[in-house]
Amino acid sequence: MKAVNEPDRESQQNVGLIQAEAKIYARHVSGKFQNLRNIALWILLGLFYLLPWLQMDGHQALLFDLPARRFYIFGITLFPQDFVYLALLLIIAGLSLFFFTALAGRLWCGFACPQTVWTLMFMKVERLIEGDRNKRQKLDKSPWNTNKIIRKSSKQFVWILIGLITGFTFVGFFTPIRDLWGMILSFSLGPWETFWMIFYGFATYGNAGFMREQVCKYMCPYARFQGAMFDKDTLIISYDDKRGEPGVKMTRLKKAWVPVLIAHSVFRSVPRVLISAMVCSMNALPVLPVLMSVTR
Ligand code: SF4
Repeated sequence: MKAVNEPDRESQQNVGLIQAEAKIYARHVSGKFQNLRNIALWILLGLFYLLPWLQMDGHQALLFDLPARRFYIFGITLFPQDFVYLALLLIIAGLSLFFFTALAGRLWCGFACPQTVWTLMFMKVERLIEGDRNKRQKLDKSPWNTNKIIRKSSKQFVWILIGLITGFTFVGFFTPIRDLWGMILSFSLGPWETFWMIFYGFATYGNAGFMREQVCKYMCPYARFQGAMFDKDTLIISYDDKRGEPGVKMTRLKKAWVPVLIAHSVFRSVPRVLISAMVCSMNALPVLPVLMSVTR
């Protein structure tokens, strides 16, 4: 007879590491937060695609020139001995991420993460070419005909093009983008530039076109420890039974409490951010001697 807690070997064998899931057909939504996401999307994409073309003091305004060991950041030139500032900047960025996650939940995920931004763009292209949810479902179920072939291949073409432009722009942050463009036009692109452009182009195409939420579920390290930063005051999307059903309108008295609750939430986040700061500093300690030796 099987013991009560004995694992079911047959079902264990049938469970794979990554569960195959049904394709998600996201419906187009609109509203205040969606508008904010769209604004963030266009601003971030605009910055990514246009910044490498900006010139300052006779060279690219934002260029991480690894072979020359120089970082040009809007008029500031950083040499290896200045990397300690870069480390501090990264620590501050990490702590800000922890702080805003504790306070406002998945703010980064929803509005600024590259995975979100590029997925949103790919979804917009998909909707433009194949239509909204119902039309896409119908198209997928329909047999292959001229309409389906044209729509599917057009979508793939635009996705691949966006992927390649993204790969090219990304490499343009490390190799002067104008020289890179010249190399493409004269067919003299080096093997490394070609490899990284195709690699990042393919990663963009695969992650934003096909993997989408699977990246968050199986690959993203940030998703793994987000839960540790949440508390009951963190703003997260979930069912709030206190609001009751049917929905109760917020009274003027409750509205007056909102600033107090926000202040309370900020205050509660401070210990966690301080602990995060300590952990970050401790992690940075082994790197300090290396940085000091570089700065000498
Ligand atoms: S879980 Fe990770 S990959 Fe997904 S949106 Fe958040 S930060 Fe980006």
